[in-house]
Amino acid sequence: MLGIAPADAADHADHVKQWLAAGRHGEMTYMEAALAERLDPRRLVPGAKSIICVADLYADRAAPEPPLPPAPAGRIARYAWGDDYHKVMKKRLHRLADDLREVWPDEEYRTTVDTAPILEREQALRAGLGWVGKNTMLIHPRLGSYMLLGEIVTTLALETAGDAGQAISDHCGTCTRCIDACPTRCIDPAGYTLDASRCISYLTLEHRGPIAPELHAPIGDWLAGCDVCQEVCPFNAPLDAPPPAAIHPAHRPRPPAPAIPILDLLQWDADARREAFERSALKRIRLDQLKRNALIIAGNYLGVATGHPDPALLARVRAIANDPDETELVRTTARQVLERME
Ligand code: SF4
Ligand code: SF4
Repeated sequence: MLGIAPADAADHADHVKQWLAAGRHGEMTYMEAALAERLDPRRLVPGAKSIICVADLYADRAAPEPPLPPAPAGRIARYAWGDDYHKVMKKRLHRLADDLREVWPDEEYRTTVDTAPILEREQALRAGLGWVGKNTMLIHPRLGSYMLLGEIVTTLALETAGDAGQAISDHCGTCTRCIDACPTRCIDPAGYTLDASRCISYLTLEHRGPIAPELHAPIGDWLAGCDVCQEVCPFNAPLDAPPPAAIHPAHRPRPPAPAIPILDLLQWDADARREAFERSALKRIRLDQLKRNALIIAGNYLGVATGHPDPALLARVRAIANDPDETELVRTTARQVLERME
């Protein structure tokens, strides 16, 4: 899906500034670093007139999903089930930019897939690709929200034809499913904004330090990312027929999706991590972050309430807590987990 947005300053600049000032971005300091560019694409590409916004479906809601391995296993969010979307989408956007450059060689074209400061959901909204729901995701009435976003910011003045580019109205209505289902309650009770510093996606992927023990239980079995607020959204309900847009083959699931056995992961070394995520968007997660997350999942599984004894897993957690070859982050998390179980 493609739409065109005018390269104008953000409508929600005050909201973004307040959100940052309240520290809701956690350790994502890169969001502050290039704020002026983020709030005005003309500072990113001087003379920019248009933003070509694309949205790529990554989940086929009509196809059965790969089965989860037996518990305990750490789940991976769907966006990372296939090949690294940054590479897949950037390649296609570069091809589009090259085609445009052939016709209009004197214009500037800057392609980005999470690689430049841009408020991509606001731009996609302006381009008519969907509305931003209470869970803060871009949602299309027929395609849902399992979509990856990319942009070309250009000095070329483009217009959309027909209904394309028409704003899609907010369809959330009185629904509050995402707010009610969020395990860490990090979505504002009124929706449309969230405390990213408590979001499982942030905690498992971006946060580099130990995770506060009170957030361990809500993390459940999420190893990398979290899909809960999208899974419960009625616009992502499974379809009987093929989805109304094709899924790029590179986004289709392949191992280690959809989940990794925890006891295996707790024995990984750097080579095992590299091999598992070589082609994945998850290759930037450090091994000690993965082990931290895996230990939290192990603790949730071994916790008194679950009643699932697993001596081998418990022995592994205990060994890690005192293993000088593990990082301080991993040892600390193992100790947090053991303390929670006492
Ligand atoms: S990704 Fe998970 S933790 Fe984050 S807002 Fe959605 S449901 Fe909550
Ligand atoms: S779950 Fe309901 S409230 Fe949340 S984004 Fe979807 S439609 Fe909107």
